[in-house]
Amino acid sequence: MPQDWRDSVELTEQQSLVRRSIRDLCAEFGDEYWRERDRTATYPQAFVDRLAEDGWLGMLIPEEYGGVGMSTSEAVVMMEEIAASGGGFAAPQSIHGGIYNSVPIVKYASEELKEELLPKVAAGEQTIQAFGLTEPNAGSDSTAMTTSADREAGGASERSGTAADREAGDGSERSGTAARRDGDGYVINGEKVWISRVENSDYLVLMARTTPREAVDKRTRGISMFLVDLEDAYADGLEIEQIPKTASRAVHSYQLYFDDVWVPARNLIGEEGKGFYQVLDGLNEERLVIAAECLGLGEAALESGIAYANEREVFGGPIGANQAIQHPLAEAYADLLAAKKVIYDAADRLGDLDRTEAGAEANVAKYLAAEAAFEAADAAVQTHGGFGVAREYDVERYFREARLTRLVPVTQQLALNYLGEQVLGLPRSY
Ligand SMILES: Cc1cc2nc3c(=O)[nH]c(=O)nc-3n(C[C@H](O)[C@H](O)[C@H](O)COP(=O)(O)OP(=O)(O)OC[C@H]3O[C@@H](n4cnc5c(N)ncnc54)[C@H](O)[C@@H]3O)c2cc1C
Repeated sequence: MPQDWRDSVELTEQQSLVRRSIRDLCAEFGDEYWRERDRTATYPQAFVDRLAEDGWLGMLIPEEYGGVGMSTSEAVVMMEEIAASGGGFAAPQSIHGGIYNSVPIVKYASEELKEELLPKVAAGEQTIQAFGLTEPNAGSDSTAMTTSADREAGGASERSGTAADREAGDGSERSGTAARRDGDGYVINGEKVWISRVENSDYLVLMARTTPREAVDKRTRGISMFLVDLEDAYADGLEIEQIPKTASRAVHSYQLYFDDVWVPARNLIGEEGKGFYQVLDGLNEERLVIAAECLGLGEAALESGIAYANEREVFGGPIGANQAIQHPLAEAYADLLAAKKVIYDAADRLGDLDRTEAGAEANVAKYLAAEAAFEAADAAVQTHGGFGVAREYDVERYFREARLTRLVPVTQQLALNYLGEQVLGLPRSY
């Protein structure tokens, strides 16, 4: 076996440094840790705290706001390593939002909000782990969202119930207390679904319609981005319900119900009605990083498959000598390598590409990496025979997660739609 089959792309000095640091940190959290998080469906808080302690949650926040000031080139290394360490897809997913939701804040929030919030996020004192776009009737067709944000002019109105809580005095010094409703604000109503890490977050980046879809000439217009203080929102009518699920069990997803939840106008991020374009702005970078998470998951699965193929003896010899076992593992390696080359090359060149070119690279990368992760996990399960479904060998966990990567954050079909329409010039079906 080649000594280090994962060392297949050349890294910059900075990327090598990230890899070493993350490998060392992940070594503190072995397979048993991740197995247990999955079995008990518990969030990997100790792991997240360790990353926060070393400043990794602020990796994309500029140094002037207390962050590390790194970019997508380093984020792909970090996320690939975390997944490949045995954490699988759930491990990078546990912090994905915490890192990526700061990006639109850096780009579009007011200076005042940035100065108040970003140093705390960079220091790991506050988290923006949750991003709310999807709705029960708006998944792939996200602009079909109907959650509304209606502007309410100033005046100190108070909501019953929450006012009493304030009278009791909870000592909160946070700005924009929902119950107070002083100054201009927006009233949010509607439902979101599949929103991840809500219970592990202080803030939610919420997408809501400030103009209904029927009243805009283009469906991508009229959507705005808000920073929602979750503690205030719970006190003001936000309810959440966990969605039981089978993959990436350590990271929970929720259905959210907004009933007249007030958000101060200062928490509007960027321009009213332009929120969807702000999301598109960071989409390609984020998609590449998701591809790196899929890649790391596939590498973890392949690693387990190789180890078992060498060690398990049947009919007097190692099963890995049988080409029916060996070839699927070799194919998985080839597919992972192809995905890796695309991811690292695209991460390197992203700044030089226009939006369509970057979209093409990001969608190719995500598509290839999710397929490769699935093939690797499937081959690893088959290699393990009956133990392929035993929890103690982890490959069944990787397999469940690899299936999920074909669905999120964008389905494989929607990634192919982009390539068919934007790159190949084929007609649009919707
Ligand atoms: C574990 C998990 C975590 C998530 N976390 C978040 C989160 O934190 N925040 C958030 O906002 N969302 C989140 N999501 C939502 C996720 O982004 C959506 O599930 C995804 O975009 C697909 O939308 P949908 O489930 O509504 O599928 P649908 O849009 O209903 O699609 C159903 C199927 O039809 C196919 N399809 C639909 N239209 C077309 C077409 N034109 N051409 C070809 N095929 C088509 C799709 O590819 C899919 O296979 C999460 C989802 C999961 C499962």
